[in-house]
Amino acid sequence: MTSLRSVFASATAIVTFSLTVPTVSWAEQPIPVVATFSILGDMVERIGGEHIALTTLVGPDGDTHVYQPTPKAARSVAEADVLFMNGLEFEGWLERLAEAASFNGAMVVATNGIVPIAFEEHEDEHEEHDEDEEHDEHEEQEEHEEHDDHEEHDEHEEHDEHAGHDHGTFDPHAWQSLDNAVIYANNIAAGLAQADPANASAYYINRAVFVDQIVALKSDVDAMMGALPADKRTVVTPHDAFGYFAAAYDLTFEAPQGMSTESEVSAADVAALITQIRRDSISAVFIESITDNRMMEQIANETGATIGGTLYSDALSGETGPASTYLDMIRHNATTLSDALGS
Ligand SMILES: [Zn+2]
Repeated sequence: MTSLRSVFASATAIVTFSLTVPTVSWAEQPIPVVATFSILGDMVERIGGEHIALTTLVGPDGDTHVYQPTPKAARSVAEADVLFMNGLEFEGWLERLAEAASFNGAMVVATNGIVPIAFEEHEDEHEEHDEDEEHDEHEEQEEHEEHDDHEEHDEHEEHDEHAGHDHGTFDPHAWQSLDNAVIYANNIAAGLAQADPANASAYYINRAVFVDQIVALKSDVDAMMGALPADKRTVVTPHDAFGYFAAAYDLTFEAPQGMSTESEVSAADVAALITQIRRDSISAVFIESITDNRMMEQIANETGATIGGTLYSDALSGETGPASTYLDMIRHNATTLSDALGS
């Protein structure tokens, strides 16, 4: 709460300042901007309003982890004045895309200034090179068995070197914290104001309105999560996308898949999770809109846990869905958890 207030306070100062800048442009063309995925795109749209022409690369229900850029995406990036990305290695494909498109606009990293959560567990992430696939699986298996009882740190380093693939040091899903959303909003407004100074005041006003909505939602979500019983605070989801939400509300999220949907799920991981669900009497597991849910259905069947509903992790729903905006997504997730776990 403190951090949210202080961020908000400093942001208000910027608005007051920028309101003194006179702006009006008659035959104004909206500036072309690109956001990498739907959640970020919604925030950019809110703050940019009529002054921007937004293209979002990974749309509703899309999976950014495994996205493959299209020629159309490259054209949008080539024409953009500003490119908004999450950062923290969420968009592993973006650097190559920006290069291929000869992008020469401004790149805004929305997570700039957040306190990232360190990547904790080992991850059996898949190698990209097909020719190495069999070899990798074999190696990973062995590594797993050998090192299960040893330091995870070692396994991590070896795996990294072996795979030659940097899977990131931090959890990228920072938008799941409402405090972080305020920082996203500040970065977006600053990025737009810099690219389009004539409309800076409009961007900062829109940002202030959005931040007010975030603060109001936060008080609702605080109340809902605060009311969850002490023995109902462990949640099972397919992939590890709720670390920031869990940290904010003292919840524990377990996931058979790692932080990226690219990760392989081993039978041993699923078995360990099933054991844990039984041992800790976890009563509900949740599915995600972007993942294959057969695994969670299997886990629910084997443990007698119910499916508590669908959580939106990395993408918004379509227009008619329950999570078509960032704010609706957070409210939907909190309500779904509250309904399934509340007494
Ligand atoms: Zn994810």
